[in-house]
Amino acid sequence: MSLTTFLIYTDLDGTLLDHDSYSFAPALNTLEKLKSAGHFIIPNTSKTFAEIEAFRREAKLQTPFIFENGAAIAIPKDFFPWQPPETVEKDDMWIKSFTQERAHWLSIIQQHGQHFFGMFRGFSQMDVAEVVNLTGLTPKDAQLAMQRHYGEPVHWSGDEYAKREFLHSMQAAGATVLTGGRFTHICGETDKGKALQWLTQVFSQECEEQQFTSIALGDSQNDSAMLEAADIAIQIKSLQHPFPIIKKSKHLYQSTLCGPEGWSECLEKIVFNQE
Ligand SMILES: [Mg+2]
Repeated sequence: MSLTTFLIYTDLDGTLLDHDSYSFAPALNTLEKLKSAGHFIIPNTSKTFAEIEAFRREAKLQTPFIFENGAAIAIPKDFFPWQPPETVEKDDMWIKSFTQERAHWLSIIQQHGQHFFGMFRGFSQMDVAEVVNLTGLTPKDAQLAMQRHYGEPVHWSGDEYAKREFLHSMQAAGATVLTGGRFTHICGETDKGKALQWLTQVFSQECEEQQFTSIALGDSQNDSAMLEAADIAIQIKSLQHPFPIIKKSKHLYQSTLCGPEGWSECLEKIVFNQE
């Protein structure tokens, strides 16, 4: 039997982090076991670079991570023996970008949004207090969430008709529009699955003698592309919504427990063959 190293690509909110408390305490044991067995935990989330950095410090992770919904990957400089291809240097990280940076989307919003003056506000126009008000985040977390590098969350206060027109003009200018709860993201085309594939390939190239198997874990629809792209997919149960819809039927697991409990439940079974 050949030994494989698992690349564990994980969503955070509602998956490794509890939906309400944002805690990963129920997964801590399994997380430590995976790390000491030499497997890699790789966050793959809509969160910003700054938000994931805070999480990595808490979870003591030194692995690469995928941020802003697959828009980019950060790889610690000392992680691989060489600089990975197509990356640029940023402080102590190598960064691989898949889309245009935020400034590009801001200029599109400025150009085409004049028509809709007063009907919306973007993160870049807001101060921390305003973001706290709209999101319910703590001031500290709001500050991390505001440091986006690849897109602009926009809060709409005009009518629905004008909103549709606005979003059309954004799309016509080349933007992808992701509608969430309170915010609509104006950004490039991002794909958590494409980022997963790119990074898995880098692992294989940089560590030729090792064999890697990718596992993806996610609880919601925006995780479906990475679940499809991984060798093994784990859908994490949520009380808020059904499992994400995916086409793949092989190597697919569903947790019976929610969030971090479900995360541990499935990885214990798959990686350590334990019930
Ligand atoms: Mg989630």
